[in-house]
Amino acid sequence: MSERHHKIVIIGAGAAGISVAASLMRHAEGKSLDIVIIDPAQTHYYQPEFTLVGGGVVKLDKTRRPMKGLIPDGVPWIQQTASAIDPDSQRVSLQNGDIVAYDYLVVCPGLVLDYDAIEGLRQALGKNGVCSNYSPDYVEYTWQCIQALKAGDKAFFSQAPLPIKCPGAPQKIAYLAADHLRRQGILADCELHFTSPGPSMFGVPYFAKALVEVADGYGIHKDLLHKLVKVDGEAKKATFEIVDGEHKGELKELEFDMLHVAPHQTTPAFLHGSAISNEAGFVEVDQHSLQHVKYPNIFSLGDACTTPNSKTAAAVRKQSPVVVQNIKSLIAGESLVGRYNGYGSCPLTTARGKVMMAEFIYGGKVTPTLPYIAKPNVGSAIMWQVKTKFLPLLYWNYMLKGYEKFIEPQYDYDIEE
Ligand SMILES: Cc1cc2nc3c(=O)[nH]c(=O)nc-3n(C[C@H](O)[C@H](O)[C@H](O)COP(=O)(O)OP(=O)(O)OC[C@H]3O[C@@H](n4cnc5c(N)ncnc54)[C@H](O)[C@@H]3O)c2cc1C
Repeated sequence: MSERHHKIVIIGAGAAGISVAASLMRHAEGKSLDIVIIDPAQTHYYQPEFTLVGGGVVKLDKTRRPMKGLIPDGVPWIQQTASAIDPDSQRVSLQNGDIVAYDYLVVCPGLVLDYDAIEGLRQALGKNGVCSNYSPDYVEYTWQCIQALKAGDKAFFSQAPLPIKCPGAPQKIAYLAADHLRRQGILADCELHFTSPGPSMFGVPYFAKALVEVADGYGIHKDLLHKLVKVDGEAKKATFEIVDGEHKGELKELEFDMLHVAPHQTTPAFLHGSAISNEAGFVEVDQHSLQHVKYPNIFSLGDACTTPNSKTAAAVRKQSPVVVQNIKSLIAGESLVGRYNGYGSCPLTTARGKVMMAEFIYGGKVTPTLPYIAKPNVGSAIMWQVKTKFLPLLYWNYMLKGYEKFIEPQYDYDIEE
């Protein structure tokens, strides 16, 4: 067992951890900051492209890069799993027993997939038509399942209870599948269901309304208030619980030929019961400053913190500069002025070649970046290019390189327009 000390310790080298580390290193004083990053993963994934892998648009290989090449120069990488945080003694314990002490801590280990929250799911995944875009292990199988659908088949696309990564992703793949079936001339002969425990298609009413029309246009059944609770892969049966309304508590067992599952998601185990987390295991931060509510030298961003935004890499793109600015101010003894406004973005793939670019801030206010190019609630061919070409470029070459000053205006959009 060894103990070391660093001024700034970052837990997690995902979208958030790499962006913050790279951005801190871009500042003139970065090199003197003594930053370290902790993450056990060998591979870094650009997860927003998983939808396109499942939809047969890009290959899985394109979504991943070796972690080694992404950790910024001058930042040591501790390839270990954080197993506990003691905020009073300012120490992080690692799985191998080592201790890393810090002056400032950034916590961003993302979410883990909780397969066991759905009975039978773990055993069922990857065969018998049961797939998931949420894991690189099963995302390629999604496209195989879609291609295998034939006239008369039934396909289900299930959404897990929130919070999950990219809450729009479970329905994005339903539209890509429906579009594929339409191109094959068999859409009308298949039965497609989008199932969600939520009461509407999307958290922001402006987009929810438009998505009802998209689903109806394909003839997709919208089974709202339906929570997937059990999968029997061998028998090809899925059980849904009705979570509200007059049939609350009833179970429905339905046969499927394909079942795309968004598994339940939670924070990594070390955050559950931690002094820095809420009861659900999310790091409790102020939703604007991203500073911990009790421990001023701790910040959190990305999927693992309590901010009530849509959990997306797009959100991380706006959160990272705030964390960087506020840590720098704290070190300099200045007041914290960096404020995150809740921006999140969900590029909804309404068809192969069309994206409805949902962008919004806290309170569900619609704030498109390019309103003069496409109406935000309409599937657009240009936005498809933005999603498939521009955003991956932005991620790998700007965001993960710490160019946080990348100019991106947001417009207050009048939804009556
Ligand atoms: C299917 C799918 C579609 C998506 N679509 C979009 C989209 O279209 N647009 C969009 O903006 N976002 C999308 N997202 C969401 C986006 O990928 C996440 O919001 C984003 O990656 C969150 O960044 P993060 O750094 O918080 O977590 P991650 O990027 O998941 O990184 C977490 C890192 O922490 C590490 N870690 C975990 N536990 C520990 C530990 N104990 N110790 C040390 N390190 C640890 C992990 O190894 C990982 O490297 C999608 C995600 C999925 C799965």
